[in-house]
Amino acid sequence: MGGHFGFFRRIPKLQNFFNGAKLIELQFVFFRPKIFQMKKYSLVIHGGAGTLVKGLMTPEKEEAYKIALNEALEKGYAILENNGSAMDAVETAVNHLEDSPLFNAGKGSVFTNDGTHEMDAAIMDGKTLDAGAVSLITGIKNPISLARDIMEKTEHVFLAGEGAMRFAKSLGYTLETPEYFYDEHRYQQWQNIKDSDKFQLDHSMKKEGKFGTVGAVACDKKGNIAAATSTGGMTNKRWGRVGDSPMVGAGTYANNKTCAVSCTGSGEYFIRGVVAYDVSCLMEYKGMSVEEAASEVINKRVLEIGGDGGLIAVDADGNIAMPFNTEGMYRAFKTSEEKKEISIYRD
Ligand code: ASP
Repeated sequence: MGGHFGFFRRIPKLQNFFNGAKLIELQFVFFRPKIFQMKKYSLVIHGGAGTLVKGLMTPEKEEAYKIALNEALEKGYAILENNGSAMDAVETAVNHLEDSPLFNAGKGSVFTNDGTHEMDAAIMDGKTLDAGAVSLITGIKNPISLARDIMEKTEHVFLAGEGAMRFAKSLGYTLETPEYFYDEHRYQQWQNIKDSDKFQLDHSMKKEGKFGTVGAVACDKKGNIAAATSTGGMTNKRWGRVGDSPMVGAGTYANNKTCAVSCTGSGEYFIRGVVAYDVSCLMEYKGMSVEEAASEVINKRVLEIGGDGGLIAVDADGNIAMPFNTEGMYRAFKTSEEKKEISIYRD
């Protein structure tokens, strides 16, 4: 022990005191106590992945998507900034995207084989592992809010079809008319394949289109994370087809210990790959970072089983990932480190 502490060597008690003080000082520099650290928080949203190739969309349309993504992002982020919860932030962001005709969720939902709109949604709280999910519902403006009501107001996780509709009505949800969900472009998409056995990922059309399942993941100031996903599914779907989006572990998952994930892509592959939970498992069991785990799942495991799509993810430290194995994915993020980005293509 040298320098200005040298004098106290001869006075053992005082020396101990100063050694301790120095240690505390060092600890403060290298391991700053949590209360003095600024907790990083972040929000990521997506509006679907698919064959989104540069140049296929008019600049005006591209701008419209970016504006809608930006509005949803800012609305959700404002909640985090004002000490709100990750759950509120993801619900608000998804609500905004559901109200836009641009995305395949809520108002912009695709047509089923019967010419109707059947929507799926799920939300999950990474702090409590509570989850709410809903499937095969019609006429509901904001399916993600109904999913949250199922989580908070019932003992159940997943309600589907007619029963889910009865539950919604019991809470006073009003139903929108089919006209609210009508969109000429989506109608034409359906007309093109309605007499075939095909069903189609909305955003894989090789021409300008209105694409996209929507989702959001967030990490709030307390380090709690949440995930939400909402979709109209796939054009021309039938027989009560349900995709990955409302399935906890497949299209949606959140756990404070690992990550919050919202997926988009061909649901059948995402269900078989248990994709959202797979990202969490790689983090928990293999010690991967959120970025490594998300990339391993999307760029390797999903591809290996023939699936196309992408996901957004966040961990409890606010780190984010947005991998996709398609040409593009509507996506946006904002973090408390003043980082913000809104993008569509691979770039
Ligand atoms: N994953 C959704 C589904 O299969 C579709 C999408 O992401 O657009 O229902």
